[in-house]
Amino acid sequence: MSDSHTPSRRRVMAGNWKMYKTQAETRAFFEAFLPLIADADHCDIVIAPPFTSIAAAVEKTKDTKIGIAGQNSHWQKEGAFTGEVSTGMLVESGCRYVIVGHSERRQYNGETDDIVAQKSRSALAAGLIPIVCLGENFTERETGRTEEVLSQQFIGGPGALTHEEFSRILLAYEPVWAIGTGRTATPEIAAAAHQFLRRCVQDQFSAEIAAGLRILYGGSVKPDNIQGLMAQRELDGTLVGGASLEPKSFATIVNCK
Ligand code: PEP
Repeated sequence: MSDSHTPSRRRVMAGNWKMYKTQAETRAFFEAFLPLIADADHCDIVIAPPFTSIAAAVEKTKDTKIGIAGQNSHWQKEGAFTGEVSTGMLVESGCRYVIVGHSERRQYNGETDDIVAQKSRSALAAGLIPIVCLGENFTERETGRTEEVLSQQFIGGPGALTHEEFSRILLAYEPVWAIGTGRTATPEIAAAAHQFLRRCVQDQFSAEIAAGLRILYGGSVKPDNIQGLMAQRELDGTLVGGASLEPKSFATIVNCK
């Protein structure tokens, strides 16, 4: 299977703001950020604000190519699910993407691989692009279980989608030990995991789907390590937490070619 970076694998640079930024802070971010990325035509740009700041983000980016994402969604259309938001509600609010299966949701909210599959299906049915996250934790890597864990998360999660559904998702490899820790995976470690995931996709679906799938790397991506990561042809973009909160640092990451 070729790992060449074909034009169909357009880069995606996504920011996950987690539980940061009020509406006022969101507006201020975009006022500073938009001029800095005015020439960034080489990639898709996505920002996932907290739910309460989605409207402000959509309003500020309405004449731009930036896509706004939910950080989570429920798989049911509606119901007695206190605190949850449906994919239809995200679409109505102007979102085009949704993050699914982030390790913080797996860890703190008991999100399982099966829930990841259900949420991905629901997002696709609503017309959203799911950014499906998976990745091993520190102990799993240290004990040589990385591929076993990735394969398990893949098969039970996005691997359970149909061919047609899967061809519309984005995958994010996010080793848990690198998220918010300042310990970025080396470009080689990230590329090896992406290659492994692409092989899983080929086995489950087809070589064509595997070659077209965009896999983002996430885990302590910063302006000073983005060049090395993006030099790896296997990496089709990034999912950035902390460094996406500051306009200049996220712009430096987005503008990396
Ligand atoms: C994330 O939240 O998906 C993430 C990768 O965070 P950070 O960049 O802060 O490690």
